[in-house]
Amino acid sequence: MITIGIRVCVLSSSSSGNSSYIETQELKILIDAGFSGKMIAQKLCEIDVNVKDIDAILLTHEHIDHIKGAGVLARRFKIPIYANSGTWEGIGNGIGKISPQQRLVFSNDDFFSLKDLQVKPYTLSHDAQDTVGFSFFHDGYKISIATDLGYVDEKIIHELADSDGLILEANHDEEMLKVGPYPWSVKQRILSDKGHLSNEAAGHALCCLLDKKIPQVLLAHLSQNNNLPELAMITVKNILAQQGCEVGKDIDVSLCYCNRPSKVMAFG
Ligand SMILES: [Zn+2]
Ligand SMILES: [Zn+2]
Repeated sequence: MITIGIRVCVLSSSSSGNSSYIETQELKILIDAGFSGKMIAQKLCEIDVNVKDIDAILLTHEHIDHIKGAGVLARRFKIPIYANSGTWEGIGNGIGKISPQQRLVFSNDDFFSLKDLQVKPYTLSHDAQDTVGFSFFHDGYKISIATDLGYVDEKIIHELADSDGLILEANHDEEMLKVGPYPWSVKQRILSDKGHLSNEAAGHALCCLLDKKIPQVLLAHLSQNNNLPELAMITVKNILAQQGCEVGKDIDVSLCYCNRPSKVMAFG
């Protein structure tokens, strides 16, 4: 099949594993590889993509739910891995030996090109060495991905603005987290500026984007312990409704799942 424009799918996403797929006419890439290599190959198969055709893996940060299968895939299928130097430092030996030719380094805020796709990485506040979000540009379309971030500020809103497709974290419901099973120290970490976005914070971030352009949104990185898919959706819906924005009419919001691919967002 020849792809015109750009296609995006979150293969699976939760606090226990994350991997997304982006495809243009010339390129097929993964953003993060937080499952075993075998499982990622299976998930790609579910959307009719052969893992052998993947051209690159881009990493947002070194947490295991984002890198687990990256080394295996890189070695087995000769796939280059792109990350910033902080993330490479954080990975250490965490994904096994990666040859220098496959170990590529980008700098935050510097655009780089992968064939017909332009990529901009930018800093997110999270408890890893140097976590990034990415915006991807192709043929006049912009796709952004921001998961694993403690808060959204004006700089992040600026990076996400005017996206046609947006993958945004809605990690937890604050009340579920507070009364849930995690130790207090872990709860504090998740709630901190270097933790994760709550459903409420995701809703408020979307409200800040309404006057730029109304994108298609996928809510991602839902906690399996401190969130429920229906709760994430209703919370975001209610917050948007307070701004006069109706989900399903004015804005398209869908969920990512912990065990199956999201809907495919296609542009162009
Ligand atoms: Zn993380
Ligand atoms: Zn994560």
